Amino acid sequence: MCGIVAAVRAEGDVVADAIAGLKTLEYRGYDSAGVAVMTGDGIAVRRKMGKIAALEKELASNALPASPQAIAHTRWATHGAPADRNAHPHTDDSGRVVVVHNGIIENYIELRVLLQAQGHAFSSDTDSEVIAHLISHYHRGGASLHAATREAIGKVHGAYALVVASADEPGTLVVARHDSPLVVGVGAGVNYAASDMPALLGQTRDFLVLENGETAVLT
Ligand code: GLU
Repeated sequence: MCGIVAAVRAEGDVVADAIAGLKTLEYRGYDSAGVAVMTGDGIAVRRKMGKIAALEKELASNALPASPQAIAHTRWATHGAPADRNAHPHTDDSGRVVVVHNGIIENYIELRVLLQAQGHAFSSDTDSEVIAHLISHYHRGGASLHAATREAIGKVHGAYALVVASADEPGTLVVARHDSPLVVGVGAGVNYAASDMPALLGQTRDFLVLENGETAVLT
């Protein structure tokens, strides 16, 4: 179980804030790191096995566009070896829904088989990827990202802290937790989610602690 930092604001660029927050979570240990941003018409993801420095090196040579919405993650592999393709964030196969997850989805095999039977193509060996596909399934069926996330968490068993975004709902982050930590940080014109408060102390002192089973929509 490792770390999450996410931020959304009306304009500007939050990638540097997200990476800075992620570095404060290094003490938890991790094997991979990644970040996703909204690009205006889609989602761009960079992820690397190894230290956050390896992700920063990747970002230096393969830059992300400036974005007011970013989701960053450090992974401690539980399902699927440490590898670039297993690092978070994970998208569904349309690339329109993106998820970071800390924790373990216990029933991921049955969900994966079910989703594959419906035509979803998986690209990692993680338990987490089923969440992206499951949310996408409901979201494509017409549910808002929040409603789709609530449907999806009704189907998964296990521990999770999640941050979810959709290219079809730019400016929105949906967060959820059960048995993995997640806090919401409220800033001036900007909102954050992170695994713990110290990750956001450079940005805000105003926190909401999500309880088990709660979700929140950050805009
Ligand atoms: N179970 C997930 C994975 O192996 C998340 C691990 C974590 O909490 O970092 O990718």
